Amino acid sequence: MKRDKSIALFEKAKNYFPGGVNSPVRAFRSVGGTPLFIEKGKGSHIWDADGNEFIDYCGSWGPLILGHANNNVVNAIKKTVENGSSFGAPTALENDLAELILSNNKYIQKIRFVSSGTEAVMSAIRLARGFTKRNKILKFEGCYHGHSDSLLVKAGSGLVTFGNTSSAGVPESFVNETIVVSLDNEQAVKKAFADFKDQIACIIIEPIPANNGLLLQRKEFLQFLRNICTENKTLLLFDEVISGFRIGFTGAAGYYDIQPDIITYGKIIGGGLPVGMYGSSVEIMSNISPEGNVYQAGTLSGNPVAMSAGIAQLTECLKPNFYSELESKTQFLIAQIFSNLKSNISNLKIFSIGSIFWIAFTNAEHIRNAESIDADSMKHFRVLHKELLDRGIYLGPSGYEVGFVCEAHTQEDLIKTAKAFGEALEIAMV
Ligand SMILES: *Cc1c(COP(=O)(O)O)cnc(C)c1O
Repeated sequence: MKRDKSIALFEKAKNYFPGGVNSPVRAFRSVGGTPLFIEKGKGSHIWDADGNEFIDYCGSWGPLILGHANNNVVNAIKKTVENGSSFGAPTALENDLAELILSNNKYIQKIRFVSSGTEAVMSAIRLARGFTKRNKILKFEGCYHGHSDSLLVKAGSGLVTFGNTSSAGVPESFVNETIVVSLDNEQAVKKAFADFKDQIACIIIEPIPANNGLLLQRKEFLQFLRNICTENKTLLLFDEVISGFRIGFTGAAGYYDIQPDIITYGKIIGGGLPVGMYGSSVEIMSNISPEGNVYQAGTLSGNPVAMSAGIAQLTECLKPNFYSELESKTQFLIAQIFSNLKSNISNLKIFSIGSIFWIAFTNAEHIRNAESIDADSMKHFRVLHKELLDRGIYLGPSGYEVGFVCEAHTQEDLIKTAKAFGEALEIAMV
């Protein structure tokens, strides 16, 4: 497979951008080699600068649930942009997307649009702090919530810790407001509430943690979080930037039927354009400016072009059987992969929920927290990733990342993918 053009583009990009990229994981550091520069996408396929074609399971890291350049989404964008791209004044399209979301989601009553997942979470945390008049937040090791200061914090050693910053440039004083505990550990959460009584504004969790492997939680654990939050007048914040509109239209809240206090969305909501959102009850949202005193604003918030892309995409998601068909496809792919294995690879697991899947090399039946992921097993993923690329299959370039099945994947795509996996896994496991 020729890579000359991608390699030359990457060399050039290194002059302009740190590491040659505008978001770190794109640099292929964890799988080795150089990133592919993508020229176009249509449906489930993408083409790189050298003209190589791939079946894509990255989907721009989650947003593209309909696949690339979906006709309805493209037409909506074109139609809207013809009339101007931004006004900094309200448009009817914001109402339309809000109505589409709120009339199909009983877990939220009012929302605010922003322009990324990071911004949604950062704003939601401020709302939780403003509403509760408390400073500390509790997060879980292995959950990703974007790159705002309070959340670039990882666990220290001990059951309940103030984290260590996971990035230079985050002041110690921010880190001291963020408590980090392990997923699936009720004892640690209880201890945090005992240690910091009446100080915790919110618990933030990816209810379906999918940014550090796929760490599926027990429903009982999520329900436990709901209860302990209620008992302590702490808000429960579901960060559904990845799971929202992916695990059914109402995401994890609907899947587990647990009512959080605040929900954040991103990725799918914008149909491939930059949109994020946070939502809550009428009462809690009344704290946001200009109604309340929690300030939050955005020049391009509710951007009409992005709104119309979101409307077009979510309209498709609301069609009957949309999610059950995606899930069936995902199960079909996984079953095909196992039936294509030539030898018995006992430590291969493919964890999945809805249309999200994660390839893990483990003997464990479940992996529920970050500490249970074997870093050494990533050596298999590095080989698998390269061998799959050579066979025309594109996965996100890290073994900690999940894959996504989209509406545009065909049976033929899935069969071809499973065959490639069969061959690639034989090589990856030696
Ligand atoms: C992707 C993601 C974010 C950050 O969203 P950006 O749009 O990349 O800023 C936050 N939380 C979760 C759960 C995510 O998956």
